[in-house]
Amino acid sequence: MSVPAPYVAAVSSDLAPLETDLCVEVPRNGVPRIAYVKPRPGDRDAHGNLWGRHDRVTGGRVLFGEMDAERQRECMEGLLCQICGQPAEREGGTLFFEWQRPDAPPMQLNRIRTDMPPLCPTCVPVSLRYCPHLRDSPSAVLLRVRKSIPCGVGGTIYQVSPDMNHWIPSFADAYSSYNKPRHPGMLAVRMFRKLRGVTVVAPECLA
Ligand SMILES: [Zn+2]
Repeated sequence: MSVPAPYVAAVSSDLAPLETDLCVEVPRNGVPRIAYVKPRPGDRDAHGNLWGRHDRVTGGRVLFGEMDAERQRECMEGLLCQICGQPAEREGGTLFFEWQRPDAPPMQLNRIRTDMPPLCPTCVPVSLRYCPHLRDSPSAVLLRVRKSIPCGVGGTIYQVSPDMNHWIPSFADAYSSYNKPRHPGMLAVRMFRKLRGVTVVAPECLA
């Protein structure tokens, strides 16, 4: 039997934007910001962050360890299940997986910020069965989360070139909080939520 492809997973044949697709836009406030040469609806989120986009090319293979930026954002904004893409939000609490990241301070249940979209109860056993990352990570826990609040985006920060002509990637894997001024050179590929009212649940106890 083939392994089901998670909705949020990236596909190897899809094409990420080229640096030539980006341009320097100077809005009325005079601060140059990153933009696409050919803008499309939905390029920016409600906070004005520019999002990475992909041109869809068929024929690729599923990259289980990588998330597609557009589908990650869709799942995080709408609380959709990362595996089946259906609504994951539940009255009694929404399910998320979390684990101790190697270079992060020890996990505290009341301080979790995650870019990993939720799961619907049906897809939890599927993930545990097929996801090598969850199987091999002793710190992985299933959480029931009363409330999750969109809190920021992650991506690459670009610096405008001295001639104001193009963008130069300067900082990969940066985080930009919605509570701080938006970074004009951020190309977002992840949306984050902070989790509140978190309890650990045993996967076998899911009704
Ligand atoms: Zn699901």
